[in-house]
Amino acid sequence: MSSSSSSSRSQTRTTVGIPSTCWCGANLTTFGAQTKDNLYRRFYRCEISVKRQSEHHLFKWIDEAIIDEISIVDTKISQLQADFQSFKRTTTLRLQERGKKIDESFLEMKRIFHDQTILLDELMNKSTLVLEAKSQSLLLNIVAAAIVLGTMAWLYEKITVG
Ligand SMILES: [Zn+2]
Repeated sequence: MSSSSSSSRSQTRTTVGIPSTCWCGANLTTFGAQTKDNLYRRFYRCEISVKRQSEHHLFKWIDEAIIDEISIVDTKISQLQADFQSFKRTTTLRLQERGKKIDESFLEMKRIFHDQTILLDELMNKSTLVLEAKSQSLLLNIVAAAIVLGTMAWLYEKITVG
């Protein structure tokens, strides 16, 4: 939005938004127009241009500069909104995927529990004759704990990895 070169004499040179310095590098001052068409209309101009009328220095109406500036901000807000929408979309998709993965994991966990329970039942039935009631319940507890721990570790890995 600022320029410091004074070498160019191009008439088409424009400044977007509110200018901060003149093309010659000098600071800008605001003046009031004296012409009949634009009486008292404020504009930006550097002090040097007042003394050297023949030179080509920045000229910009303040009201136009402000309108420029508003449209720049508008564009930025639109861009931010677009960015936010796309971020929201991506995040929603990611969360949906993650949710699906968790659902699948729970289903798998249920399957494993079911299989292990059948296995446990078989083990109990087989061991009934061999083991005393006390050691049998101890074994049962150990096996159940191992199943729970194993399943939790497996589930944890499923959810966190990927
Ligand atoms: Zn200037």
